[in-house]
Amino acid sequence: MKRNIAILGSTGSIGTQALDVVREHPGQFEIYALTANNNIDLLIKQAREFQPEVVVIACEEKYNQLEDALHDLPVKVWAGSEAIAQVVESQPIDMVLTAMVGYSGLKPTINAIKAGKAIALANKETLVVAGELITGLAIENKVPVLPVDSEHSAIFQCLNGERSPIEKIILTASGGPFLNHSLKQLQKVTKKEALNHPNWDMGAKVTIDSASLMNKGLEMIEAKWLFDVSPDQIEVVVHPQSIIHSMVQFEDSSIIAQLGLPDMHLPIQYALGYPARLKSNFERLDFFKLKTMTFEKPDTERFRNLSFAFEAAKAKGNMPCIMNAANEIAVAAFLQDKIGFLEMSDVIEKTMQKTAFVQVPTYDDYVQTDIEARYIAQEFIK
Ligand code: MG
Repeated sequence: MKRNIAILGSTGSIGTQALDVVREHPGQFEIYALTANNNIDLLIKQAREFQPEVVVIACEEKYNQLEDALHDLPVKVWAGSEAIAQVVESQPIDMVLTAMVGYSGLKPTINAIKAGKAIALANKETLVVAGELITGLAIENKVPVLPVDSEHSAIFQCLNGERSPIEKIILTASGGPFLNHSLKQLQKVTKKEALNHPNWDMGAKVTIDSASLMNKGLEMIEAKWLFDVSPDQIEVVVHPQSIIHSMVQFEDSSIIAQLGLPDMHLPIQYALGYPARLKSNFERLDFFKLKTMTFEKPDTERFRNLSFAFEAAKAKGNMPCIMNAANEIAVAAFLQDKIGFLEMSDVIEKTMQKTAFVQVPTYDDYVQTDIEARYIAQEFIK
């Protein structure tokens, strides 16, 4: 039986690499739905190649253009964010890959879980914003949440078949392009430099987050929810070669690691094919070429975002949601040259101080918090 997949965010970095995996394994997967934010040209190309049942474009103004371009195919064309939240409920879908960017992933992920679909989770912001809600719903609906993030895929693989408790998660970080920059140098880095990641080929938002170490902060919160550990049980270790994708330490002192070359195709394929390991022609790791692996402590004086994430995780409630909203606004402002690299941290810090704290948020509280925190963050940027 082929696995029927919906890809949310099919034109992004994870989405296109997921379609590479599907293309390599025509006997395993069927594409039921593809959704994109506004890259209509690529969405049309993908729809022609994979012939899904439904395509959805979030940007409603592009509906007519998409309809026209696909009118000769038996593909349903929908538009708008509500349509994305709805399409995931379609009966034939087995698995939803959530590969859109940021907070927009929350609603469709909730709907997919309620509809009983397995989740291949690439949208880490969903768990950062509303981890308690999402993990609770997944348990209630007996839905697996399979991590696509390389670190979390590694941890998930380290835990395969394990029944013993986790003592500590060792979350590896490449350190990004500015690992050895001084504070003075960080003040002047450009978006072009920030977008040039040494190891991983990713979308703009996650690449900036990697450069500022916010990505590792978001991943720490993601790991806390996925693997049910406290923030104190997660240690971030900078490992610039990105060969060890993360590790788990057990109570007998044993550490299990997952290794591989830094290529997102691997964790994507593992999630889509789980529990099977599908054959691949990915390049193999050559230890004699690699020779050395190095490790160091992250510097939270230069990269303050990582400390904010630990603070937010410990504060609980809607604090991670506040931090995430402020970060999305700060990254967008940095990408538009409105603020400098270090100012992103100032915006996040001030927004976390100023936005109303809610200890036990409901879904509506998260929606409200996201709006309020974005507004406050914007005010600090003006
Ligand atoms: Mg990652």
